[in-house]
Amino acid sequence: MTDADTEQGAADAGEALRARIMAQVEQQQDQAEAKAAAEAVAAAEKQAADAAAKAEQEAKDKAAAAKKEAAEEAAKKAEAERLAELAKQYALPTSSYTLSSTFGQAGAYWSSGYHTGLDFAAPTGTLLKAVHTGTITSAGYDGSYGYKTVLTLDDGTEIWYAHQSSISVSVGQQVNTGDVIGRVGATGNVTGAHLHLEVHPGGSTSGIDPLAWLQSMGLSV
Ligand SMILES: [Zn+2]
Repeated sequence: MTDADTEQGAADAGEALRARIMAQVEQQQDQAEAKAAAEAVAAAEKQAADAAAKAEQEAKDKAAAAKKEAAEEAAKKAEAERLAELAKQYALPTSSYTLSSTFGQAGAYWSSGYHTGLDFAAPTGTLLKAVHTGTITSAGYDGSYGYKTVLTLDDGTEIWYAHQSSISVSVGQQVNTGDVIGRVGATGNVTGAHLHLEVHPGGSTSGIDPLAWLQSMGLSV
């Protein structure tokens, strides 16, 4: 071998090595690009799946909310119908009134320390009516209550009418809803003419709020 041959051989080997390195670099670049592309596809697929799941959940939530709203609306309507039907069997205790004192109001004026009934301020002589069918179980003068009538309903609830100017029923008498039982007055412990109404379920000593009771029977007070 000549020196020239040796030089040529070294040059060929260098060229071959360079070509191999170049091929390797190219292959690594291809692999990196393919990996990046695959990752981009996977990310896009995940995003699409997430969006679909979110849309499905939103549709489900919306349907559930609409169903709940419809159920609440139906229940409200049924309750209003029930009260309207019930109200036909009940009557307000008087007319042409303004509510002047509500149940539970505190005050030194009342012997118990609080107001035990609901006051309907109305002119003396205004008619008092049976709020429901029942029996008169008491009628007469009762100290601070003045002239007082007690109407006992079939379920045992006592309705007390106080401060009357006159009583037009007697004990043992049966009355129907709306029947006149007496007139508004200012007898007993009062500062002006009004009906003081009390409601005693089962004849209990302490009464309940007459306003809530009347409203529970469907009446607008
Ligand atoms: Zn009162």
